[in-house]
Amino acid sequence: MRVLLVEDEERLAETIRDGLSEHGVTADIEHDGREGLFRAKVGSYDVIVLDIMLPGLNGYQICRKLREAEIWTPILMLTAKDGEWDEAEALDTGADDYLSKPFSFVVLLARLRALARRPSVERPVVLQVGDLVFDVASSAVRRGETAIDLTRTEMQVLEVLMRGGDTPVSKQQIYDRVWGFDADVDPKIVEVYMRYLRRKIDEPFDVSTIKNQRGVGYRIVAA
Ligand code: CA
Repeated sequence: MRVLLVEDEERLAETIRDGLSEHGVTADIEHDGREGLFRAKVGSYDVIVLDIMLPGLNGYQICRKLREAEIWTPILMLTAKDGEWDEAEALDTGADDYLSKPFSFVVLLARLRALARRPSVERPVVLQVGDLVFDVASSAVRRGETAIDLTRTEMQVLEVLMRGGDTPVSKQQIYDRVWGFDADVDPKIVEVYMRYLRRKIDEPFDVSTIKNQRGVGYRIVAA
C-alpha cells in the first residue's frame, strides 16, 4: 500500500511514516498544502491522508481540488477536535473518512487498510439551494434554466455559502476558506465578493437570496 501524507507537523509526519513502514505501508510526506496537492495529482496512491490546517492550501481545499480534477483516490482527513472544523464538512468536500487528532496508530492503520480496499467512488458534487444549482465538478452555475457566468473566486465564495445550509457562515470563515490562512488580503474582500455575487445570482432574477445577519454571517436561502 502506498500513502500520501500531507501534514505540516514534521515530527508527527515522520513518526507516522516510520510506523507505517513497519507494517509494509510506504508513505510519502508533504508538509505544504500546494506541494501536497501537486503530489496527489501526479502520484499514484492507494490513500491520501490530509491534515486540515496546512500552509499554502488547507486540507479541505486540497480535497475539493482533487475531486474537481476528478481524482477519486480515497481521502482520510485528520481533524482537530477544537470545534472549529467539523467532520461533516470533511465528508462534504469529498473526503471518504476522517480521524480526530490525537489518534492511535492502530486505528489509523486500520482505517487506511479499509480505505485502500474500497474502490474509489466517483462523487460529483452538485449543490442546490432553491432553483440555484452549482455543479462543482464542472464549475457550472445556473438559476433555473439560466446559466450564470462566475469567476473562480466567486464560485468559491458561493460554494462556501451553499454548503453552509441554514447556518450563517461568518466573514472570517469565508475569508479563511477562500483566501487561505496566510493570505495577505484585506478581509473586507468578503463584502466585495458578496456584492459581485448578488449582482450575478440575485439582481438579474429580481430575487434576494444572500442574507447578511449583522455580526453573525452570511447564508443563502431559496428564492
Ligand atoms: Ca497542521
